[in-house]
Amino acid sequence: MKILSVNAGSSSLKFQMYEMPEEKVLISGTFERIGIEGGMYTIKLNGEKIKKEKDLADHSVAVQTLIDELLENKVIESLDEIKGVGHRLVHGGEKYASSVVINDDVIKTVEELSDLAPLHNPANLIGVRTFIDKIPNAIQVGCFDTAFHQTMEKREFLYAVPYEWYEKYGVRRYGFHGMSHNYIANRTAEILGNKNARIISCHIGNGGSLCAIKDGKSIDTSMGFTPNAGLMMGSRSGDIDATLIPFIMNKTNESLEEVINDLNKKSGYLGVSGISSDSRDIEAAANEGNERAQLAQDMYVEKIVNYIAEYYLELGGADAIVFTAGVGENSKTTRKAIIDRLAPLGIKLDEEANNVRGEEKLISTPDSTVKVYVIPTDEEVMIARDTYNFINK
Ligand code: AMP
Repeated sequence: MKILSVNAGSSSLKFQMYEMPEEKVLISGTFERIGIEGGMYTIKLNGEKIKKEKDLADHSVAVQTLIDELLENKVIESLDEIKGVGHRLVHGGEKYASSVVINDDVIKTVEELSDLAPLHNPANLIGVRTFIDKIPNAIQVGCFDTAFHQTMEKREFLYAVPYEWYEKYGVRRYGFHGMSHNYIANRTAEILGNKNARIISCHIGNGGSLCAIKDGKSIDTSMGFTPNAGLMMGSRSGDIDATLIPFIMNKTNESLEEVINDLNKKSGYLGVSGISSDSRDIEAAANEGNERAQLAQDMYVEKIVNYIAEYYLELGGADAIVFTAGVGENSKTTRKAIIDRLAPLGIKLDEEANNVRGEEKLISTPDSTVKVYVIPTDEEVMIARDTYNFINK
């Protein structure tokens, strides 16, 4: 059975098509610059990468182009072969604790939740509406980034602010990267042969969040009301003192929107180093003796170590620490800097095993008190699984 896994942004659309339940990727690709001049798309098929330029006036043109490519490349003979389309949706608020079959009510609710994710939910919904229009016979499933964290206790997700803010306006920590942390929870439990394992999942890429997992459930996570909270990231500040905002507005005459933009786009690695939001550039500059790059790297590591220590206590110990996403899967330097700091807990890195990129591997020594893994994340397959499970019910 063929299932499409889709991630629609305001000007982009990523997709993978799976043969399920084998979880075989048949074709994948990305459409970029939708609605902007200079549209283009790339497709990966049979180990080959094809890049094409095409004006993509809107999402409807992008999805039609995708369908044409599927037919031309004989990935499908007819549209009816696509039994399900799974959509990554960013914000499900408190309404959705798991994936859901999309109907008019769900669309209305996700629309209402746009208040909480004004950049993402409306863009996600454009994708949903386009696929309903183009592939009407497929079941459409919504998979929320927030859903996995709905198992957090109130004491973890509430901010210490007036309680009415939560009751009236939904002010609380929601957490994101749920599809990724859920994948890591499943895969690690499978590797350990223990579905009750205590796992600290470190999703560190351009965005980053940590998640404390017990019995397959999220019990705490570092992102908050928005994805700008928690860790220092590529260009996001992570946690700050909120009163910085009016202070800087006063000093610089920037508007509120401009300061929020600074915190999202000009902070993190980029803000501290003044060089780049990409950890490869930071590592290279630090190696050449650039002090601010080294400072940015030290701060980045510090935050992650602090969260690991916090979650270690919260979980009452840990069975595994897992590194995933761009930095976690690829940067042995960052992993080493983090694990070396965990020595007081008896956690030890196997330096030779740590010499790994983008593949599943145990990187701790046999006598380490906690197993440390690199596990490439796979959010797309989680979407395909959830979609398949609705059809196969
Ligand atoms: P993601 O958001 O998960 O796609 O991660 C993207 C980020 O991963 C990039 O911005 C880099 O900071 C980081 N990254 C990718 N490859 C490497 C690498 N070889 N070494 C260090 N960092 C990397």
